[in-house]
Amino acid sequence: MATTPRTNPSSIHLEAMGACQLRCPSCPTADGSIRPAIASGYLRFERFRQLLDDNPQVRAIELSNYGEIFLNPQLLDILRYAHVRGVALTAANGVNLNTVKPELLEGVVKYQLRAMTCSIDGASKETYPIYRVKGDFDTVLANVRAIVEFKRRYRSPYPVLTWQFIVFGHNEHELPAARRLAEELGMIFKPKISWDDTFSPIKDRAFVMREAGIHATRDEFAQATHVDYARPTCHQLWNEPQVNWDGKILGCCRNFWGDFGGNAFDDGLVPALNNPKIAYARRMLMGQEPARGDVPCATCDVYQRMVTDGRFITTSELRWHTFWTRLNGFARRQPRLYGVAREIYRRTGARRLLRPWLR
Ligand code: SF4
Repeated sequence: MATTPRTNPSSIHLEAMGACQLRCPSCPTADGSIRPAIASGYLRFERFRQLLDDNPQVRAIELSNYGEIFLNPQLLDILRYAHVRGVALTAANGVNLNTVKPELLEGVVKYQLRAMTCSIDGASKETYPIYRVKGDFDTVLANVRAIVEFKRRYRSPYPVLTWQFIVFGHNEHELPAARRLAEELGMIFKPKISWDDTFSPIKDRAFVMREAGIHATRDEFAQATHVDYARPTCHQLWNEPQVNWDGKILGCCRNFWGDFGGNAFDDGLVPALNNPKIAYARRMLMGQEPARGDVPCATCDVYQRMVTDGRFITTSELRWHTFWTRLNGFARRQPRLYGVAREIYRRTGARRLLRPWLR
């Protein structure tokens, strides 16, 4: 039987909250599709502390994924403890920032959350809630401004703030205004292709390419670059595995339709991340084993495209991903450098070259 190396990552994804207060039309959290794999609940501080105490090799944790981290009632304790232990926390997958307690606005600065991606798909009170249903643009902006003010007061570069703008037909005209506002607030501006091209599709492709440097759909991106937009997500199975708030092993941040067996809190992180089912999934993604119905990847379109194209994950690709993940982590700790690097990446051919690894 072919084998892949045992994983013992220094970086993991750990969902802090399994629910969200918004009702975004294309979001699987909003329509309940994430259940039962993710379930409604939140990461308990005691579980988090135990995980850190038992796994000193873990130095970086991404907290955000399908839920809104600021709804976790124990988030402040989590931030504080990670800070004491020198573990770098990020919320780079995204937060909506609509409901944040005042002590947390200060806490993310005081306890040095390293990076935070704010999902703001619009530059006005009218446009923003068309996708972020139940959200309020002014509240989000006020919360960003409060964090910026705390950064100034603490003389801290953290969290590095990114304005993520999913481009739709209804908001594309606000790209220039959003970019200006992001610059004013010292945020990195990051336009993004929607994964659902049926909701409010882009109208003016040339304008969006010029303003945002992105394709209108992920299919167009794949045709132009010969790279599957979501393929880098699979690398997480080895380098930054996703753990649910209750310890279940979800493997990657895309998966919400089943778990890979094992529980990071009950079985220990390293044994859970190397249980037979996830080890089989890794071999499957490398084309070393056939698809198996009980492995979540079998039903994922990213894996299905690999099978169709015969382009499975390779060892050298994983090495590159490890390199870029570390470089990205280093860059995030140098906020100015990170901002400049992202801008060069956005404006130049590096975008096409590095896309498979740098997100
Ligand atoms: S195939 Fe799909 S579920 Fe499996 S690791 Fe890749 S993105 Fe995640």
